[in-house]
Amino acid sequence: MQAMIPRSARSIAFVNAALLSVLAFGQAPAALPDDPACTPTDRKFMERAYELARYATTHGGAPFGAVLVKDGVVIAEYSNCEISTGDVTKHAETGLISTFSPKISRATFGAATLYTSSEPCTMCCGSIRFAGIKKVVYGTTEVQFLRVMGIPPDPNPLNAREVFARTAPATQVLGPLMEEEGLVIHKAYWPSHKFAPDGT
Ligand SMILES: [Zn+2]
Repeated sequence: MQAMIPRSARSIAFVNAALLSVLAFGQAPAALPDDPACTPTDRKFMERAYELARYATTHGGAPFGAVLVKDGVVIAEYSNCEISTGDVTKHAETGLISTFSPKISRATFGAATLYTSSEPCTMCCGSIRFAGIKKVVYGTTEVQFLRVMGIPPDPNPLNAREVFARTAPATQVLGPLMEEEGLVIHKAYWPSHKFAPDGT
């Protein structure tokens, strides 16, 4: 665990520096570069997460999708469906964990990687933590898609890396990945849809 602490600190510094460079350039977010730690395999599963995000937009959900992968095999998928269900916990990540945790052992969760189309919110970080998932790869950075939604960025955003660094430091967080593709999905959806005033 000790080895994870400096790596997390470096990751947080990397992301914050990248975000500051973006926030200096007005309202239209430009895609952040891929996390250099991501691999071609990560890209393959992120593509599936983005497919699930696009699916959600035509099946009662907001544009978010998640994929759980173990040993190179998809073992669970979920598309956001909070609109059709009226259930605010049906985010892609928490919905996946809630649906599949009765069927998937904690050992399997612990050996799996969760790919999510957008950076997990604090609720989903908690679900991921309590499921025991130890590796998360996200596509689109939260402050980036919040800007697409028209929500001004928080001057001191709490990103997923910081949440995990303080609550579950053994969890590895990678991202952003293929953010340009993710922002296209958000830009196609939010201008014609409503969202809660607090951005949830
Ligand atoms: Zn969430």
